[in-house]
Amino acid sequence: GRYTKEDIIKITREEDIKFIRLQFVDILGTLKNVAITDEQLEKALNNQILIDGSSIEGFVRMEESDMYLKPDLDTFEIFPWRPHQGKVGRMICDIYNLDGTPFQGDPRYVLKKVIKEAADMGYDFNVGPEFEFFLFQIDENGYPTTTTHDNAGYFDLGPIDLGENVRRDIVLTLEEMGFDIQTSHHEVAPGQHEIDFKYSDALRSADNIVTFKLVVKVIARKHGLHATFMPKPIFGISGSGMHCNLLMYDEDGRNIFYDEKDELNLSKEAYYFIGGLLKHAKALTAVTNPTVNSYKRLVSGFEAPVRIGWSTINASPLIRVPRGRNKNSLIELRSPDPSCNPYLAVAAMLKAGLDGIKNKIEPPKMMEKKELSIVLDTLDVESTIPSTLKEALIDLSKDEIIKEALGDVYERYMKAKSLEWDEYISIVHSWEVEKYISRY
Ligand code: GLU
Ligand code: MG
Ligand code: MG
Repeated sequence: GRYTKEDIIKITREEDIKFIRLQFVDILGTLKNVAITDEQLEKALNNQILIDGSSIEGFVRMEESDMYLKPDLDTFEIFPWRPHQGKVGRMICDIYNLDGTPFQGDPRYVLKKVIKEAADMGYDFNVGPEFEFFLFQIDENGYPTTTTHDNAGYFDLGPIDLGENVRRDIVLTLEEMGFDIQTSHHEVAPGQHEIDFKYSDALRSADNIVTFKLVVKVIARKHGLHATFMPKPIFGISGSGMHCNLLMYDEDGRNIFYDEKDELNLSKEAYYFIGGLLKHAKALTAVTNPTVNSYKRLVSGFEAPVRIGWSTINASPLIRVPRGRNKNSLIELRSPDPSCNPYLAVAAMLKAGLDGIKNKIEPPKMMEKKELSIVLDTLDVESTIPSTLKEALIDLSKDEIIKEALGDVYERYMKAKSLEWDEYISIVHSWEVEKYISRY
């Protein structure tokens, strides 16, 4: 590990840290925290801080609601945007039952279980996300609007791109928190931005994803803007994805997906992994694209994926294999959006891929450019990913492998998501009124 308990006590004293935020996520992937003062640090490091789990989304249990927070020492960081005296530190925690066993409804536990399965096969799974998000203006009451903060487009620069300073601030803050930022740019839509950071092992990557979202929101607010990871905030322009670059290493750090003899430099394992992802694509979508709004992004015409297939081109298929990566062979899964719970999403991706490797699932042949240009038939359910949250949930309910990945969270997740769908489908939306009120 990076730190021992003693290291953390020492750093807290030397850096004048006054508050420590103990963070965890609910089943929706929403980051939560409780703050303790430095006086309570030893107690926290001995895993003795209790929280009441009863009002946390997806944690509800009848008998017993008190749970322990077990800080992961390796996730210790200082919030660079908080005061420099009486600083604020944080640790991401695992949730434990009173009897000292891990709480199986904790998304971090769900991911750790699948990581263990991979480790038993000799694999170290790594994920590198490409984050897209929008910056919106805030109204006089402090609420977000859907008015973008600029009118720039793909790869634009200042003075048209008004996000330069915000992105700069975000990147510098993340670097202070140990992130290895690779690139940042203005995305296609007005007010839309992208920041990509380096892959890391699956658990750290999921931790990074929740930290990243927090930092982007906090820094955007400092600039008087609202950052949103809502997948499709505005109709008719691009939505925001969170493409995931998937890499697999063995214990000696060798890239398992690489084979120099293959035309695309992909190994057998890589092809099987793709086979597994495609076989479980439908159920996987319920986890990587978990909101009603996620499916408004997954339509053709905006570089978002719709087809269950793979290619080397950045277009409508679910998976892209970038060429020219040499020894850094990787698989890019293009469906995930930033509203997903990263712990559950990464667990589901890994589980699908491992199933491909275990059962030697051959992927279909690569989609050619001309196939990709054929206009999609939305009724072609065989070759497209689910088009609504409801369809995705039905697909999930039929997929034993993805259900197994979610373990104890499955039932609670289904319940929360079904309620979300039921609410949405029973509401009369403005589109309906516009469309029907005069006609009927
Ligand atoms: N915004 C697109 C999406 O929704 C991705 C664009 C890109 O390839 O960077 O996935
Ligand atoms: Mg992009
Ligand atoms: Mg991409």
